[in-house]
Amino acid sequence: MRKDDMSVLWKRRILLIPITGGIFVRKKDKDVLHPINKISAQDKPPAVLFAVLLGLYITASVLVTVVAHSRETMLIGGAQVSYSVFTGAFTSLGNICIILMVAFYGKIGFFSSLAVLLIQFPVLTTGLVKHHNYQSIPGFFTNVLTIITVILLYVRNRRVQEYQERITFQAVTDQLTELPNRFACMEVLKDLTEKKERFAVVSIDINNFKSINDTLGFKAGNEILAEIASLWDDLAKSGKTGTSDMVGRLGGDEFLILMKGAVTEDDLVRSIGCYEDALSHHLTADGCELYLTASFGYAVYPDHAQNADAVYNCAHAAMEDVKRHNGSGHIRGFTAEILRDDHSLEVEARLRTAIENDSIFFQLQPQYDLSHKLRGFEALARMTDENGNMVSPAVFIPAAENIGVIDKVDSMVFRKAAVFFGELLRKYDVDITLSVNVSVRHLMKNDFMDEVRDIISASGLPADRFEIEITESIMIDSAEKALRVINEIGELGVKIAIDDFGTGYSSLSYLNSFPADLVKVDKSFIDKMNSSDSSKQYVAAIIYIGHVMGFKVISEGVEQDEQVDTLREIGCDYIQGFIWGRPLSADDAEGVVRKQAEPV
Ligand code: C2E
Ligand code: MG
Ligand code: MG
Repeated sequence: MRKDDMSVLWKRRILLIPITGGIFVRKKDKDVLHPINKISAQDKPPAVLFAVLLGLYITASVLVTVVAHSRETMLIGGAQVSYSVFTGAFTSLGNICIILMVAFYGKIGFFSSLAVLLIQFPVLTTGLVKHHNYQSIPGFFTNVLTIITVILLYVRNRRVQEYQERITFQAVTDQLTELPNRFACMEVLKDLTEKKERFAVVSIDINNFKSINDTLGFKAGNEILAEIASLWDDLAKSGKTGTSDMVGRLGGDEFLILMKGAVTEDDLVRSIGCYEDALSHHLTADGCELYLTASFGYAVYPDHAQNADAVYNCAHAAMEDVKRHNGSGHIRGFTAEILRDDHSLEVEARLRTAIENDSIFFQLQPQYDLSHKLRGFEALARMTDENGNMVSPAVFIPAAENIGVIDKVDSMVFRKAAVFFGELLRKYDVDITLSVNVSVRHLMKNDFMDEVRDIISASGLPADRFEIEITESIMIDSAEKALRVINEIGELGVKIAIDDFGTGYSSLSYLNSFPADLVKVDKSFIDKMNSSDSSKQYVAAIIYIGHVMGFKVISEGVEQDEQVDTLREIGCDYIQGFIWGRPLSADDAEGVVRKQAEPV
């Protein structure tokens, strides 16, 4: 069977899986079973039983004819009994065989039964019509009734079977993309390892997919996933990668490719590179063009691991490593160092302990206006490992989001920084603001506003000295509720800043309905601002639009004098960056304030 035929069969929901190069369909690989085949194989009764039933039926039919016409008798319990009394018994035996054949052997059973039943008609009709052998009348009717029973049984069985096939298909198919799902992938993986064949597992995660969902919504997110799936599936089927591949979706934005036939690791990377290239084709969602990248991690059986779970885990760890180190599209093979580098479980445990011990603390990064006058500070969460070394927020903030404790981290920083700031403002007469980061999860909590009020009253800090930083994604998650909360924050007198503006897939129309005070231009725009006139114009446009909408604008991540010059030229209001101040301990931040103001 050709590859194309395979995919047609799959689409028609016949029990086979589409796979490039036919890993699972070439004759020599026939014994590598797809999970569905495995399941159906378990249900199939042995062929030898079919032969026995057919043989028994033929024997019973011959005996019926023999005994029906026999005038011989035999002695049973002292009485002479005619052989013909066994006609009924042999007829029943034959019918039972027929019914069992139809019940257990599907199409083959049905057509064989029908054939042997129909073959008898000419004999029965000739006997009846030509030779007026009225003894064949019961046999004639039995045959007709058995044929009707066989047809009814077969039709009913077909329906049940089709239903079972549909259920089985659904059990191994990802509903969104129609690719093999996690269960199917893992079963195929197990089969390959049982066959002890060399193959590679590629674990793939689409970069920043969360922000697509956050900004464009789940519907568009799903469309994009389906588009990626069909792009990769077509590529796998085209055979252009040079290897025999099967693409599956494990869930969310996580895909998996099983690859056979790569001789060297270079071959493998080349094949994976084809999938990376395919992603750079224009994908569209909601009429917007998207440029996506993915992280690819691979592991080879049996080089990196000797069982199915382990080889997948190695590929997954390699993929996580790509994410940790690059954050943008790249390919990486598994190495032992990766496991040593994979601190995620450690970080999560450390995070839980830090929350229990209330040991998350904050640093304050100063913000200035362009004349170098202090505007305030942003409080940034900090955590140390068991040796007292700082763990990067780029590591523990996503981990906190993953394990659902980001709101606790936010609160700890918010509360501690507010208490410190309250004391600071009682000591020094300065007009400065404290900014805190609030995650979507935190802001959406029903008691969020109570918490803000409690913190304001406990710290004694005037509400208008507070600023809450949120990202635009909040407007997509639950725009109505977000707007309600944001308005309530505004009514309290607390300021709102839109953090990381320009990242994600921000839409200016959202900004329009966002009752904010400040827009924070993301560092990535500041980084390339001076590299081309268009980049500079882009930042200028954000500042211009921000001003039109009545926001102040601050640029994040300013590191160079030339950037300050440009920002001054294009009318930026404030600067936050290493050039004028790194995140500081509370004491050092107090030192900065002391320089600007006289004690009260
Ligand atoms: P963010 O809110 O955009 O904070 C600014 C980040 O940029 C900080 O990184 C800051 O140290 C860094 N930064 C500022 N100026 C420069 C510069 O000139 N050069 C460079 N290279 N970096 C600069 P940090 O502290 O690592 O925090 C990273 C992110 O973690 C924050 O980005 C924020 O999204 C998140 N985060 C930090 N604290 C909290 C918190 O308490 N709650 C929540 N939900 N997120 C937090
Ligand atoms: Mg921030
Ligand atoms: Mg930011």
